[in-house]
Amino acid sequence: MKRSMILAGIAVTLMGCGGGSEEASSVESVAGSFKFSADTGVYYSPDYNGVYDAEYLGEEALPCEENRTQYYETENVYVFGNPDLPDSDFETAANWVESYFQDALDVMGITKEEFYAERTHARFFARNHFLEDLVDLKDDPSSSFGEFTLPTDILETRDTEDFNFNLYEWAVTLATYTDAQTVMDTVIEEANDFDEYSSLNIDDKIYVCLHEGVNDNYWGEGTYAGIVIAAPSVNPPSDASELITHELIHTIQLVFTMDATLVQPLPRWWLEGQATYLSGMGTVAKNKHDEYDPTLVIYSFDETYVDDAYGHYALAYQYLEEANGRETLVNFMSELKALVTNIYSDENPEDIEEYLATEDYQFTNLFNATMVDMDGNPLTVEQWRNNYHSYIEDWSN
Ligand SMILES: [Zn+2]
Repeated sequence: MKRSMILAGIAVTLMGCGGGSEEASSVESVAGSFKFSADTGVYYSPDYNGVYDAEYLGEEALPCEENRTQYYETENVYVFGNPDLPDSDFETAANWVESYFQDALDVMGITKEEFYAERTHARFFARNHFLEDLVDLKDDPSSSFGEFTLPTDILETRDTEDFNFNLYEWAVTLATYTDAQTVMDTVIEEANDFDEYSSLNIDDKIYVCLHEGVNDNYWGEGTYAGIVIAAPSVNPPSDASELITHELIHTIQLVFTMDATLVQPLPRWWLEGQATYLSGMGTVAKNKHDEYDPTLVIYSFDETYVDDAYGHYALAYQYLEEANGRETLVNFMSELKALVTNIYSDENPEDIEEYLATEDYQFTNLFNATMVDMDGNPLTVEQWRNNYHSYIEDWSN
């Protein structure tokens, strides 16, 4: 469990994106109203005796954890934040998301219905709690968690070295795909620290949190439930259309790839490259490819700071998309979620340093089985890492 916890932390921090200080472009105005959480039971992050799920909802989401009285609601959006902010901040943020959510879905080639079908109604910390309890059956295999007991064929491997692997795969698959209602019912019934159904539930809305920080390297991020962005009156974005679309693409990425372990199996160059390229933020020129090695950047700590790192990720992503098609890449993400990243797999390096220096093994296996280069020849992660510059060189000639 330790490695998955480490990676869960990484998954959240690699979503941060820079902003700017110019005026926002004008957007469509939609109808909305302020509501009181006490009346509706809708919260950005529920509070169980001081326990929040905010760590999975955004690194700058503290204002939405602390201000739990009201929010602003439109057809597709909830906006949370400090009630002392002007009403126009909440309205503007909702208008942005209402205006660009469809754009983000369109560039990913999916419908709103497909997005919500892929996103769980059980908050991620409920699914994670469910997973931990299923894994705990290892210590007492004759016990049960709700209606769930260890299957006989897994019990039969108890004295073999396959036991942990088999049990973990079973638990992650169940925790990821069991019906949300069953997850919530089981968690409420079996775990006495959860007692409110409404707080375990996530609605079919984009959850927006307004933060009040002014940081050149962090304007917003995409989260599982929506986006965390700077309050417009505090730090207006350089280009709301591109930035909101970019962050919403991060939301879609998480929904399409993350299983109940909370590990994000896509490398950083893919996450930022896809969000940057598809939101129209542009790529670096092909003839500048040799200035950076995007495909070596798996986590944010692999990134060497250069101004146009995102443009290099975008160029790498553009190559892959033109060679394979956008639909293939989006299907790839969904297939990746279905493959359990099993911490007990032999393909997982035991050594943490080595583990962090390589892509997730399920990502590597699926990539090697799926991707082709611009000539239609099979492309492996190893080739993509080691020969990136010659692929781009051939492409630009
Ligand atoms: Zn980003």
